[in-house]
Amino acid sequence: MDTDTCAAGVSQDPIERLCGLRKRLHSRPELRFEEHFTSGTIAQALESYGYAVEQGIAETGLVATLPGKDPGRAIMLRADMDALPIQEANDFEHASRHQGRMHACGHDGHIVMLLGAARALKLQPQLPGTVHFVFQPGEEGGAGAKRMIDEGLFTRFPADAVFGMHNWPALPVGSAGIRPGPIMAAGVRFRIVVQGKGAHAAQPHLGRDPIPLACTLVLELQTLAARHKNPIDPAVISVCMLNAGHTDNVIPESVEIRGTARTLSTGVLELLQRGMSNIRNGLALAQDASISVEFFQFYPATVNSTAETRLCAQVLQDAFGADKVDVDTPPNMTSEDFGFMLQEKPGAYILIGNGSPGGKSHNLHHPNYDFNDTAIPHGVRYWVDLAHAYFRQARGGQAIG
Ligand SMILES: [Zn+2]
Ligand SMILES: [Zn+2]
Repeated sequence: MDTDTCAAGVSQDPIERLCGLRKRLHSRPELRFEEHFTSGTIAQALESYGYAVEQGIAETGLVATLPGKDPGRAIMLRADMDALPIQEANDFEHASRHQGRMHACGHDGHIVMLLGAARALKLQPQLPGTVHFVFQPGEEGGAGAKRMIDEGLFTRFPADAVFGMHNWPALPVGSAGIRPGPIMAAGVRFRIVVQGKGAHAAQPHLGRDPIPLACTLVLELQTLAARHKNPIDPAVISVCMLNAGHTDNVIPESVEIRGTARTLSTGVLELLQRGMSNIRNGLALAQDASISVEFFQFYPATVNSTAETRLCAQVLQDAFGADKVDVDTPPNMTSEDFGFMLQEKPGAYILIGNGSPGGKSHNLHHPNYDFNDTAIPHGVRYWVDLAHAYFRQARGGQAIG
């Protein structure tokens, strides 16, 4: 499909209509839990396909259900829908109209691929089991998946398995990556404050200098990642902000240290967090200082279950060709709140190709990124084929999960 010909959103061709809708969503990006236009647009589309829509879950989240023949079997397909606080650098017609906000992670594309599947499955004969289509807010640092779960997602919409996807610019359109086990990292952000006592630069003995202590602490964090966990478990601790002082002859009152820790196992992340707290306690005691550590924006690892991963890999290979699917794609140290859903239910998360064949595509979160619309039919096909394959397999007596 030529992406330049599908801007109007008024075509009779369903893929071209999705493409037009994607561009409309791209031009109106909304940040976490503020996705009101987005959510309303999705609800309108689902209603036009004949769905009843449950809205207002985790503020702007919504769910539409396609009932199957057997009410006892169900799967959940999930798309995220929030944008990022990034100023878009593109100047094409569908660029963001909102200052400082941008669909730089392609969630606009995720939305329309799931909408396309909802429409296609509604037009087909009734499936053996039920499909819940979940549109989730607040993926970018808001843990919207957890909030939907806390607000009763799985009790209101019972499901045997959950499935998610993310577009991946490093993979060409028409290809995909999947792996059993962790595919995205567990992550947590931290803020450490070393509280000292200000003084004249020439009279450190009259104060309590927090700067050497903060430097020691930063180095200790690197030792923690390198020496306190099994070397075969990947982990990274990055200090990304150090704030202290205003001039060169005054010892400041305090130092603020901010950063993030990522691992491929939630258990290793917890080990690092305990280690950070121990370093804080030890240094504070040794230096007679006050140090606080605060953790926030925790995401567990996104861990694919074995049977569902095998099924998804087969669906992808049948749809795209065996040579187009990496069934042991390397895991990423980025984090994804779909991990919360996979803590509750078996399921799998795939990376779906979004790059130009042989060309260069801007990466996720880049101010020049744009979702590649030629991936839309591939995403729709994957969702539709997965729904069929899941219930075919379950009905054949090879129940998975
Ligand atoms: Zn993102
Ligand atoms: Zn994303």
